[in-house]
Amino acid sequence: ATFADSPALDFARIEHPAPTDAATRAAAIADPGFGKVFTDHMVSIDWDEGTGWHNATLCPRGPIALDPAASVLHYAQEIFEGMKAYRLDDGSMALFRPDQNAQRFNDSARRLAMPEIPEELFIEAVRQVVTADADWFPQVEGGSLYIRPFMFANEPFLGVRPAKQYKFLVILSPAGNYFKSGAPAVSIWVSSDYTRAAPGGTGAAKCGGNYAASLVPQAEAIAKGHDQVVFLDAVERKWIEELGGMNLFFVFDDGSIITPPLSGTILPGITRNSLLTLARDEGLNIREERYSLDQWREDAGSGRLTETFACGTAAVVTPVGKVAGKDGEFTIGGGGPGQMTSKLRERLVSIQRGGAADRHGWVMRL
Ligand code: PMP
Repeated sequence: ATFADSPALDFARIEHPAPTDAATRAAAIADPGFGKVFTDHMVSIDWDEGTGWHNATLCPRGPIALDPAASVLHYAQEIFEGMKAYRLDDGSMALFRPDQNAQRFNDSARRLAMPEIPEELFIEAVRQVVTADADWFPQVEGGSLYIRPFMFANEPFLGVRPAKQYKFLVILSPAGNYFKSGAPAVSIWVSSDYTRAAPGGTGAAKCGGNYAASLVPQAEAIAKGHDQVVFLDAVERKWIEELGGMNLFFVFDDGSIITPPLSGTILPGITRNSLLTLARDEGLNIREERYSLDQWREDAGSGRLTETFACGTAAVVTPVGKVAGKDGEFTIGGGGPGQMTSKLRERLVSIQRGGAADRHGWVMRL
């Protein structure tokens, strides 16, 4: 593929000298877990101020050399995406809304003062590596190939200013179910000591630094016996924002649904956006509206709130059964997956798997 607005972007192919043999690969992907196993290839593309994007290569996955002064190691100019290749019911592979990942990547790039990558180049890079490593697709229930495109500043320079040199890479990791327990509902911990993002900060960008900052509160959640941390807003410490890696939805007994608005401090999830669209297609009353922790507790107690679920590429749609924080804990509905959660999950998954009609053109066959 050549890209009109970025010269010389035919991908060079460097064949893998020793691709993993079929038996080793089969063993590695029999129970891949999440993020532990990687495929044979990667795509690498360079950018510098003079040339723009160049040196697009599909090559063996392996260590990359970095100068110790590479600015990413000091000032954290790094962004990434998380997406999946799905196996359709007819056996072929497909991406789900890759244009949305490309656009969000570029939104993140702008916030971190990094160069944007042409949308078609981003998608082509993903297509190249997924196609090359298609035989790494895990043969497990709910399995997928998790795709990690990312970009970082590799200019050796210690001044604090936007770097003039970057590397874009795409690697793949066969994925089973995200939650180790495979539990039907997750338990979440409300962080009162930490917040994830403040107004004017980088909360809406998918940059590594946001995740570094979430590790201590996430570890606190695990230490308290919960699966995930939920963050409150940084100003009033009152409004529900999102989990460390998922957006939240609240379902009420009258069938209405709300999800926190894109305030600039939460990540604009592609799953979130897809569910909003699917729910509206169904004629459901779904709104983007602030919801407080106090109201959540009260509504769960009164029964007005019947379900809460989290959503994201990794975990798809996951019911929240229990919520705990410094003021005690409460259970939502029956503590297990509710009807609306199951229905929306099923609608989304069947489009991703090529089962249901793709009315919005979300599925991109490879
Ligand atoms: N919030 C955060 C903080 C995330 O990291 C993710 C995962 N990308 C999401 C929400 C869900 O986004 P998506 O549906 O695009 O995976």
